[in-house]
Amino acid sequence: MLIDTHSHIFSEEFDTDRAQVLNRAFEAGIRYHVLPNIDSSTTEKLMDVCREFPQCFPLMGLHPTSVKIGFESEIDHVEQMLATNKFYGIGEIGIDLYWDKTYLHQQQEAFRYQLNLAKKFHLPLVIHARNSFNEIFEILDQEIDSTLFGVFHSFTGNIDDYKHIAGYQHFYVGIGGIVTYKNGGVSTILQHINPEHILLETDSPFLSPVPVRGRRNESYNLTYIAIKVAEVLGVSVLEVAQQTTKNAVKLFKLPVE
Ligand SMILES: [Zn+2]
Repeated sequence: MLIDTHSHIFSEEFDTDRAQVLNRAFEAGIRYHVLPNIDSSTTEKLMDVCREFPQCFPLMGLHPTSVKIGFESEIDHVEQMLATNKFYGIGEIGIDLYWDKTYLHQQQEAFRYQLNLAKKFHLPLVIHARNSFNEIFEILDQEIDSTLFGVFHSFTGNIDDYKHIAGYQHFYVGIGGIVTYKNGGVSTILQHINPEHILLETDSPFLSPVPVRGRRNESYNLTYIAIKVAEVLGVSVLEVAQQTTKNAVKLFKLPVE
């Protein structure tokens, strides 16, 4: 059994065949899916999908690329939703300096505020870090305490970034399609990562692994990622499945058998 710990199956790319996509995943042993929100415009869809498909677990948070002037109302929405519904984590949140640096200050503020929501609601963080490890670490180093835990999703950092994350004690790294890319660099780092820190994820509909790179990504493709991770670590796919499923259930406290 595998768990896709980062899927945007609620996005419109899946509007015409969502049930089939989830069924293909199920048949391949991918039984559960963790769904990070983007912003208030995607919340209703996220909740609808999680109601219709009980194998999907929702997260609540404001994505860094949705942080603009006036983001405070978006943060209010996040807090309001957390207070009134069951969620399995705060996500996805973080800092993205790849697409746009204009709102760095606002992104830092939104990130810090949502870290404190994680403390308040005792939920794990799902962190999106793109060209921003230093900015993220600066805030986390100030806010870290024994109650903060989470995952750096779609991890693309270097060995020092991983060591920094491991130093936080209760943090994981999400390994996705990039591990299968020749120039991705992730497979080199992966050899140094403690298997007890690894979660598997697709980030679908983005970041399709080889051999389906370039197409719409879907949870079925988690099998290619698990196979690659097993190959790099020199263990069986079964061991990868058991360890990463255990890690995901523990981090998100998923109600699974
Ligand atoms: Zn995502």
